[in-house]
Amino acid sequence: MRAAIFNAPKDLLLTELPRPEPGLGEVLVRVRAAGVCAGDLYIHTGKNPYVSYPRIGCHEIAGEVAGYGPQVSWPQASGPEIGSSVVVDPFVGCGSCYPCRIGKRNCCASLSIVGIHREGGFADYVVVPTGNIVPVPQTLSPFEAVFAEPVAIGVQGCRRGEVTAADTVLVLGAGPIGLAIIEVARARGAKVYATDLSQERLATAAQFGAIPIAGGEGLLDRVMEITAGEGMPVVMEATGAPPAMEQTIELVASGGRIVILGLVRKGQEVRFPGLDFTRKEVTIVGSRASVDCFPEALELIASGRIGYPKIASFFALEEAPEVFETLAADPTAYHKAVFRI
Ligand SMILES: [Zn+2]
Ligand SMILES: [Zn+2]
Repeated sequence: MRAAIFNAPKDLLLTELPRPEPGLGEVLVRVRAAGVCAGDLYIHTGKNPYVSYPRIGCHEIAGEVAGYGPQVSWPQASGPEIGSSVVVDPFVGCGSCYPCRIGKRNCCASLSIVGIHREGGFADYVVVPTGNIVPVPQTLSPFEAVFAEPVAIGVQGCRRGEVTAADTVLVLGAGPIGLAIIEVARARGAKVYATDLSQERLATAAQFGAIPIAGGEGLLDRVMEITAGEGMPVVMEATGAPPAMEQTIELVASGGRIVILGLVRKGQEVRFPGLDFTRKEVTIVGSRASVDCFPEALELIASGRIGYPKIASFFALEEAPEVFETLAADPTAYHKAVFRI
């Protein structure tokens, strides 16, 4: 099979490999669409501390079931039929640690992620545990279904923030994750404001139904003006920048919710004035990737309420070296790059 391998930092290799064999409890997926994420770019540039080389990257995978290994539980091969469309949920939990036992395998103590800890989808075939494939509605092509993973991150964020049609939400950061939150929150009927330092990203946020607010200096004043001094009922942080994270406690209304999706560097501290925890009685939650959000993400995409697939750029797998070279020079070169395989 064809594969694009991260051989070493800045060394992406197009090559032929033997087709992988599905083992016990595993499924072989014929890949049709493989999305490029910032995480893949970090593997290419040598900035992903969790990866070992060589590795086939990609955790945003849509394709078809091509075969099953022996299955662990009766009935045999209990997954979707051979040939049916599926997407891959890339988070493989151990099943026995505390977070796995309470249904949070996205926080598993020995988490294994497809495309990082095990081979991913920049290839004709990928093997994953049978429990990690999700059936795709018949109306969706793999080139639409492939957006399930990023959209699921927005679903998880909105679940963590309990976002409903009654809410007004402020999204900090209109990068890929911010856009996913905006689209899901809008689909839930919430009123959504978005802020970013980039005018271009704000324009995209507006295109997806958010009301743009200029970021940076004076943001707090603008938010207080909009909310008549109350602050925002829900603040979703998707920049990963410590100053933005610290400001969430000022931007949120008393009794409101803060959802932190952005990642800071290991060891980086984020400070809040302690009195506000109690005085404002805020709920502050983290949101990591997604768990069991793929079916809802696929439904949203099938409903036509997600515009994300429309701004993606599609490439052949053979173009992978050029695509990653372009992204290494300018990570914002494409809103989203996807390989047709
Ligand atoms: Zn991703
Ligand atoms: Zn676990």
